[in-house]
Amino acid sequence: MTNEPIRRRGLPLVVCAPSGTGKTTLIRKLRQEFPLNFSVSCTTRPPRQGETAGQDYIFLDRAEFLKKKRTGYFAEWAEVHGNFYGTPLQPVQERLNRGEDMLFDIDVQGAAQLALSLPEARFVFILPPSLEVLAQRLHSRGTDSEEAIKVRLVNAKVEIGTCHWFDAWIVNNDLEQAYAELRAFYLAAALRPSLRPGLPRAVLEGEYHGRACCRS
Ligand code: 5GP
Repeated sequence: MTNEPIRRRGLPLVVCAPSGTGKTTLIRKLRQEFPLNFSVSCTTRPPRQGETAGQDYIFLDRAEFLKKKRTGYFAEWAEVHGNFYGTPLQPVQERLNRGEDMLFDIDVQGAAQLALSLPEARFVFILPPSLEVLAQRLHSRGTDSEEAIKVRLVNAKVEIGTCHWFDAWIVNNDLEQAYAELRAFYLAAALRPSLRPGLPRAVLEGEYHGRACCRS
């Protein structure tokens, strides 16, 4: 007897949102509850205070980044706010094959590319309740200049205007409600038969041993 027939393939879960929507808080809550691995991206932007190389990002210079891009190293890549960002493909594939769920915090252009390179991925878009609320949140965060806030609001309009292709939309008006919706979406996506094609046969052959789909 073996657990092999019901080993679930890992779920790639992609969460996108305009900056200031509360994405980081929602992702942190989900990772506190479930053992979701974070896909560590490469970036050409300099490390911020408190960031650890290899844990928050792999920091590269532009020449190193472009060299890797040419060799097909990235599952997706994009230029965001003047810096390059990219998701290394191989570590992601290895972890998905081992049955580990992966969380991607990437921008919308990158998400659209990931839909092609990882067809089993599922895509969530987080919206603010209004542009006015988003502007208030960006101002009260106090991390961006007036000019940067204007750019972020223009980008937010574009992203919200093109989010029709996502699998789920979650409005972050109330954090607990938004989290309940993200959690429900994650669980439903992880239960998809395509991630556990061997399950019915394992049940029929007495080889299912009650392994949970998502351990919290
Ligand atoms: P930050 O520099 O603030 O960490 O990230 C800026 C933006 O880049 C965020 O919207 C983040 O989601 C996006 N980002 C981070 N890593 C990647 C990546 O690997 N690919 C893409 N396409 N976007 C990324």
